Amino acid sequence: MKKHGLTVMVIGSGGREHALAWKLAQSPRVQHVLVAPGNPGTARTEKCRNLPASTIEQWLDAARLEHVDLTVVGPEAPLAAGIVDAFREAGLTIFGPTQAAAQLEASKDFAKRFMQRHGIPTAAYQTFADAAQAHAWVETKGAPIVVKADGLAAGKGVVVAQTLAEAHEAIDRMLVANAMGDAGARVVIEEFMEGEEASFIVLADGRNALAFATSQDHKRLLDGDRGPNTGGMGAYSPAPVVTPDVHARVMREIIQPTLAGMAAEGTPYAGFLYAGLMISPQGEPRVVEFNCRLGDPEAQPLLARLKTDLVDLIEAALAGSLLEVEAQWDRRPAVGVVLAAAGYPEAPRKGDVITGLPEECAPLEPQEPVLVFHAGTAEREGQIVTHGGRVLCVTALGETLREAIARAYAVADRIEFAGKQMRRDIGHRALNRHHP
Ligand code: AMP
Repeated sequence: MKKHGLTVMVIGSGGREHALAWKLAQSPRVQHVLVAPGNPGTARTEKCRNLPASTIEQWLDAARLEHVDLTVVGPEAPLAAGIVDAFREAGLTIFGPTQAAAQLEASKDFAKRFMQRHGIPTAAYQTFADAAQAHAWVETKGAPIVVKADGLAAGKGVVVAQTLAEAHEAIDRMLVANAMGDAGARVVIEEFMEGEEASFIVLADGRNALAFATSQDHKRLLDGDRGPNTGGMGAYSPAPVVTPDVHARVMREIIQPTLAGMAAEGTPYAGFLYAGLMISPQGEPRVVEFNCRLGDPEAQPLLARLKTDLVDLIEAALAGSLLEVEAQWDRRPAVGVVLAAAGYPEAPRKGDVITGLPEECAPLEPQEPVLVFHAGTAEREGQIVTHGGRVLCVTALGETLREAIARAYAVADRIEFAGKQMRRDIGHRALNRHHP
């Protein structure tokens, strides 16, 4: 059968991947979007179909069998495992950093050394494999201080210790009790940075960057930024803390030197690059961490605002011609509110029946611009049930941020499942900035 358009494959199964699949499917150039493995939300999205693949071998087989023209990787684990290298070796087109470039996220120690080598602003730090040395160092530094597992820990390997006792306990947990497994075999201990966080995401083509709109995540479980850290409980875009002046500094002092440094070291970076920033009260940006992918849940409000065809942007990044394209953003703000399962983040419960979901994830309509992106959901006997920590992300646009928030919560409040956890204050920093 002759193909009339591109077949695109999205790797992953979370809310970010649902948003990516939804956005890619809107491209008039795209005929099919395969999501591997996907979730019940991607299965219900126009032009999209799920494929049961979740290892590099299976993804390679799927790409060959389905004649995939372009693969886009959502999560960090396959990137760190070398999916991009494997696809390239097989002559397949894939968008994301190589395994070597993905070290920027996969090893905090690598990232910190890299930033030091290239003069990229970040917190002062030391890396330890030995608990006694780590204990001694925090004694000399005092609290507050931040203790991080070196490896990938799904956003849960960071302790912002307010007291020395908390810092010592975190060191023992990671280095002595081995609570994080290999990810905690080394710890990075760093200076506490004060300020407001923002997510700064760019598309990179190995040399140049195209900045996405700015956004802000809400990492803590509870209202008022209290409770344990999570993968993210909600996000909005744009983030007013990133003023035009801060934006220019981030590009000049962080993004450009990072891409130049990676290229100079023989590991040019192509893909989504996410700089988690701390903006000091004086407006100085410093890097908290790099991620080698779109943020989740930032991707949901960001992609809801992106007006440009994402396939065109990714192709430009693959061709090394990002400087020749532009991204258009809906001027309306967007917000994404996460609905999390009972027990999240420690031990999310599975199998709770979800009611009140809209029939399908329809394209944004001006009448009711609300999207329900699925993440940790599964289908059981015709019902949608919880199947992971972050279950859904309700995403809405509005003329104002306040209106976007009201729209998102109106839909989020209609969706029910036992033990549902949801913050009620997504967007509070931006609101309080304008209306103190
Ligand atoms: P990370 O996984 O490195 O992004 O850390 C998770 C969260 O811990 C960040 O989003 C910050 O809220 C906080 N954090 C990490 N490092 C620092 C630091 N050096 N100073 C202040 N807060 C930090």
